[in-house]
Amino acid sequence: AEPPRTHFIRQIVEADLASGKHDRILTRFPPEPNGYLHIGHAKSITLNFGLAEAVGGACNLRFDDTNPLKEDVEFVDSIQEDVRWLGFDWGDRLYFASDYFEQLYGFAVELIEKGLAYVCDLSAEETRLYRGTLTEPGRDSPNRNRPVAENLDLFTRMRAGEFPDGARTLRAKIDMASPNINLRDPVLYRIKHGVVHHQTGTAWCLYPTYDYTHPLSDALEGITHSLCTLEFEDHRPLYDWCINNVSVPCKPRQIEFSRLNLEYTVMSKRRLTDLVGEGHVQGWDDPRMPTLAGLRRRGYTPAAVRDFCERIGITKSDNLVEMALLESAIRDDLDATAPRRMAVLRPLRVVLTNYPADRTESMESRNHPKDETQGTRAIPFGREIYIDRNDFTENPPKDFKRLIPGGEVRLRNAYVIRCDEVIKDAHGEVVELRASVDLDTLGRNPEGRKVKGVIHWVSAAQAVPAEIRLYDRLFSVPTPGAGGTDYRTEINPDSLRVLSGCLLESSLRAVQPGERFQFEREGYFVADPDSTPERPVFNLTVGLRDTWGR
Ligand code: ATP
Ligand code: MG
Ligand code: MG
Repeated sequence: AEPPRTHFIRQIVEADLASGKHDRILTRFPPEPNGYLHIGHAKSITLNFGLAEAVGGACNLRFDDTNPLKEDVEFVDSIQEDVRWLGFDWGDRLYFASDYFEQLYGFAVELIEKGLAYVCDLSAEETRLYRGTLTEPGRDSPNRNRPVAENLDLFTRMRAGEFPDGARTLRAKIDMASPNINLRDPVLYRIKHGVVHHQTGTAWCLYPTYDYTHPLSDALEGITHSLCTLEFEDHRPLYDWCINNVSVPCKPRQIEFSRLNLEYTVMSKRRLTDLVGEGHVQGWDDPRMPTLAGLRRRGYTPAAVRDFCERIGITKSDNLVEMALLESAIRDDLDATAPRRMAVLRPLRVVLTNYPADRTESMESRNHPKDETQGTRAIPFGREIYIDRNDFTENPPKDFKRLIPGGEVRLRNAYVIRCDEVIKDAHGEVVELRASVDLDTLGRNPEGRKVKGVIHWVSAAQAVPAEIRLYDRLFSVPTPGAGGTDYRTEINPDSLRVLSGCLLESSLRAVQPGERFQFEREGYFVADPDSTPERPVFNLTVGLRDTWGR
């Protein structure tokens, strides 16, 4: 692999090391455990862990768990599994923002004592109205000038559980006239009774907001560079306000980069949650989902996902990345690594009439055309074989190089055959072909004629029945939900086609879930966890060629 490309954040970090501002770089990846990680998170993970690795620093995995209502240990576990799957290791640097609840509470008391925070009695709705708009300044809360002693008393009682949800908040006292709405006395704490936090249980009924928790958690951990997506640019003044006004050991620098937007999918956790909850997909790991669990089940490799993240780079400009770019990353990886196999997706029986019924042969075939270290395997051959229906037609279009009545074709890794007879059922559908095999054509061209087409096949006696799931883009438009439409109405109705009567070459019996192959002339496939030894299930990872322009 190429060394990681440089980018503006890497340049800042390297300059900070060169100038002696920092001896060691510490970054963090801060997911909220309210969903599974998706390909956008992979960009952030690759940036944070990859950059730390590249400059000899370290990266923390920190759960930003300040919103217990939407969070769950299921997500805490899946996130760790997915980061590990990508190949990154946080060692003993696993943290929860909830680990800091006591310290954060102490910082809030410090702010109150400094006259920089107050207990406000406005409701959520009133707080919103008082905040003003982009063109109108906000209005002061009637409680803005509450005496420090009263604030301390009320804040203690908020913690003790004396007030119901929504009755009071703690707010920073910054500037109600600031052009930046985030600085108009933002809420730092809200009351939430009756929730059981996945880490702290029922210890707290007072929860700090994200904007307050995030900078102080960074500071407590000694993060040097806090990398986040562009929508937090407007929050940076508040980030700096928090770390500058309480006694924290260090002052991290927030730097924003553009988030990954990918065509033909959605990435907001709310939408992904709804896709799962409303049954539009079969789960968070549905192979059509942009989640890392989905991509893994689809057959993506960690190397391909990381390679994709390198290819898109790190900038400050928002853009929409083509699905073809993600697909070319996995196609390049699998082209180099995936063993080749033969699988017939839509079987059509072919009887080789001049091949003895009691004879079987074993065709030695290479597992990979460009990688000799992958060795060879034996492919059984006999009188009855299956080819793909699409490789035979009675009405060939111009340039059809496959099998036609009276025509010849080469069976990959085996002989040239000629179609002598077409057998049809009562409805006129082709159900079988009778063919003759030229036994002089194993590994060499036939005498006196050219046979252009090569098709794949499996031996009927040894073929392994299988289910193959053909996946396509989950949405039929590049930017689902853009322009106010309901993204659900733009789900691709053909995003999954299940072929149940497929036949695989015998070496694919008892395949392990997660094993990846190129099925020759069809594409790259991965064995699904639904596989049994008797009946493998394969998922289409990606086709052999880029078909996005079709
Ligand atoms: P959502 O807005 O859908 O809830 P989120 O950004 O809040 O997602 P987090 O779990 O908070 O999800 O994200 C963890 C980290 O991953 C954050 O630093 C966030 O900026 C980053 N991240 C999330 N989505 C993307 C994306 N599409 N591209 C790059 N980074 C992302
Ligand atoms: Mg979020
Ligand atoms: Mg977030």
